[in-house]
Amino acid sequence: MICGYLYSRDDNLLIFNILLSICLASFGGVIALRLPANESFIKGRSHCDYCYHQLTWYQIIPIISYLYLQGKCAYCQHRIQPTIFIIEIIGLIAGFEASFQHLYNPYILISLIITVAVAAMTDVLFLHIWPIILLPTIISTVIWQPLTLIAWKYWLVWAIILILLFIALHDKIGFGDIEVMLLLALVLGINPTLEIVLLATIFIMIYYAIYQFNNHKLTAVAFVPFLLLALLIRLGAYCLGFCQ
Ligand SMILES: [Zn+2]
Repeated sequence: MICGYLYSRDDNLLIFNILLSICLASFGGVIALRLPANESFIKGRSHCDYCYHQLTWYQIIPIISYLYLQGKCAYCQHRIQPTIFIIEIIGLIAGFEASFQHLYNPYILISLIITVAVAAMTDVLFLHIWPIILLPTIISTVIWQPLTLIAWKYWLVWAIILILLFIALHDKIGFGDIEVMLLLALVLGINPTLEIVLLATIFIMIYYAIYQFNNHKLTAVAFVPFLLLALLIRLGAYCLGFCQ
């Protein structure tokens, strides 16, 4: 019930949460694409990646512009990668899930989902997770959703287990995966995180089985997208009343 007073089904608040979440997700997508290239994500107006034409305000409205332009640049008609559109849809889902629960501070939950989505994006595109991406959610969690001393003990034990796992399997799992799992546990607690990791592991086994079935040789697979999918499904199941 931490910060449960922020929870309300008030329609205006729901719309505000959803719009905020979509805009943050859109910004997160820009960070994920620009951070690896050392490009500033604050300065510089949005432009087409192919013809470099600057985009006007109505061409950068999250979700709507992509659908209106049917995924193509308005100037050169080149197909636009759907990565930003996908993360904006995740932002939309995050806004709903954060508003229809009363366990966590909704804004920290939105921040968590978008952070994991940004990490999933860089994990897929660059097979790397920049720790700085996780920092805003860590800081806001520690300030606005302080853990009790007992929860801290569990979190520390969980951290030690994961670090030992990383040392034992460092050629199999990346440290970025460990960081994301620690962040999940920091915000959600240990039990929901264990359920999410278990669900993500089932998903990756299904993915691996399909790959094997099609005789594809499996190289490095990003784990964070599976964690993100499991996180959205676990929270969705909670919002719909299927689990606690
Ligand atoms: Zn273009």
